[in-house]
Amino acid sequence: MNRIYLDHAATTPIRPEVVEAMQPFFSHFFGNPSSLHHFGKETASAIKDAREKIAAMIGASGDELVFLSGGTESDNLAIFGVAFANRDKGKHIITSCIEHHAVLEPCRFLEREGWKITYLPVDCYGMVNPEDVRNAISDETILISIMHANNEIGTIQPLKAIGAIARERGIIFHTDAVQTFTHIPTNVDDLNVDLLSFSGHKFYGPKGIGGLYVRKGTAISPHIYGGYQEFKLRAGTENVAGIVGVAKAVQLAGLEMAAQTAYLMSLRDKLVRSLLEIDGIKLNGHPENRLPNNINITVDFVDGEAMLLNLDFKGIAVSTGSSCRSALKGPSHVLTAIGRSYEEARSALRITLGKDNAEKEIEYFLEVFKDILNNLRKMSPVYQSKQ
Ligand SMILES: *Cc1c(COP(=O)(O)O)cnc(C)c1O
Repeated sequence: MNRIYLDHAATTPIRPEVVEAMQPFFSHFFGNPSSLHHFGKETASAIKDAREKIAAMIGASGDELVFLSGGTESDNLAIFGVAFANRDKGKHIITSCIEHHAVLEPCRFLEREGWKITYLPVDCYGMVNPEDVRNAISDETILISIMHANNEIGTIQPLKAIGAIARERGIIFHTDAVQTFTHIPTNVDDLNVDLLSFSGHKFYGPKGIGGLYVRKGTAISPHIYGGYQEFKLRAGTENVAGIVGVAKAVQLAGLEMAAQTAYLMSLRDKLVRSLLEIDGIKLNGHPENRLPNNINITVDFVDGEAMLLNLDFKGIAVSTGSSCRSALKGPSHVLTAIGRSYEEARSALRITLGKDNAEKEIEYFLEVFKDILNNLRKMSPVYQSKQ
């Protein structure tokens, strides 16, 4: 079966050039980067090179970049690292109610341990209001963590404005940029951020590798103790091949960002227009201020999981929200936060496009989707009774 992948927010296929760049680090270059001999120097210098290339992408210097196992670990280090390093200054953290679970769960853990967490609401498009951030700040506030773009609905947050407020008050500002890094500009000075999380497998790089940008002078504690690797913030022998692969993926993405954005936006807008012509479909998230590749819709009277499984049967991979939703019970916390009802949240479908999706695939998706929708609605007593 010819399969069509439309779930690039969950993960992306690794680029052949990236695999090729990584290959020698599974065999020829095997030294431990901490070793002082020739073998160690080879891999240490590959890491240094990668660190500088990746840092340049966000306008940082190499010694401000910590390699970790991915986005989840990066969010965990940002939240726990700042919370523990600044516990004598205050125990209040501001975040939003639509963050990824990799931010929300560490916050909930800290809440149980005596920290105070403010979960800011969002408007009907999923936007955080910077004035809400300002009003939530107290003398105890030590960290603000607001994601750059939401992984479910694609809404892009006003980080620059929020970061300016954080800076004015001398509060550390973290962003989960896993969905935006290399996809839209993420210069840390333009965005006014002190900490920025990214993950290799969201931009055609390898899984199990990511990083945290840490602005010089930011008070942060390690969360894994042991050796001296990664400026002592994350001990453990480095994932050398992964680091080299991420650097290659960053380099290629940087060259192609503008062209890819234009291509994805045109595909996205065309598909959105066609979907909104269908009766009973509304767009979730911001109409313009959203990721170039993200479409999230609510399809009245049809279960999201039923649509997903029917599409999968036809060889088309989409999602109902976040990639881990299906394993969890209950509707998406993001969709309910933007005011969707329980039913509307259960009727959501997320389509996230990638650089290799062809226009023909999108046309095929639409054709198949319309058929599936007609069949499911024929079987829906609620839909039938509303007609
Ligand atoms: C995928 C994702 C993560 C988790 O990254 P992993 O590398 O899979 O741990 C965190 N935040 C957002 C917004 C994501 O989309």
